[in-house]
Amino acid sequence: PAENKKRKIAVLGSRSVGKSSLVIQFIDNQFVESYYPTIEATFTKSLKYKGSEYDCEVIDTAGQASTILYAYLHPLLTSLAQDEFSILNSKHAIGIHGYVLVYSVTSRSSFDMIRIIYDKIIGFCGVTDIPCVVVGSKVDLESSRQVSPQEGEDLARGLNAAWVETSAKTNLNVANVFELCLAEIEKRAPHTGEP
Ligand code: GDP
Repeated sequence: PAENKKRKIAVLGSRSVGKSSLVIQFIDNQFVESYYPTIEATFTKSLKYKGSEYDCEVIDTAGQASTILYAYLHPLLTSLAQDEFSILNSKHAIGIHGYVLVYSVTSRSSFDMIRIIYDKIIGFCGVTDIPCVVVGSKVDLESSRQVSPQEGEDLARGLNAAWVETSAKTNLNVANVFELCLAEIEKRAPHTGEP
């Protein structure tokens, strides 16, 4: 049998939007209420998509590393940028196939961050288009919603990205995120045959 295709996916977004929760729900099928990682983690899971097996490596920029990455990605925090730039450059941006950009539907500021992060990646990678899924998380907290589905959809359309709303808590649309990301990756590179 052919070797599984390998795809590297980075999960980015403001602090506390639920990046770790999303990844852990996807990999372990559980919702951990108080998960405080101190280092960045990489998880792998294989996923079947259109008849092919994919080994997905998910880089969770949680805890400490998320602070660093966030600091770099936030244009207002440029004083921290120098070191973080090289960290992101060497360890993160190179070899990443697709991006999951997470905001919380309960946080307007996390939603506003999506475009900023997107523009940073674009500038950073020196490309005009990246395989990307915009994710509105925590939809189980409907009464605290600050960002409408329409706004999420419109933003994603403008970025030529897929869009989905999720809840890591109730496991709504979690696997969907990663399937959509694979679809965005394959859409742009359907015939490379890259292992
Ligand atoms: P990260 O900093 O982006 O990795 O965010 P975390 O995964 O650590 O989540 C931040 C907080 O939001 C934690 O208290 C989580 O339990 C909570 N959280 C994450 N996802 C959800 C969700 O889908 N629903 C609800 N109600 N809470 C969530």
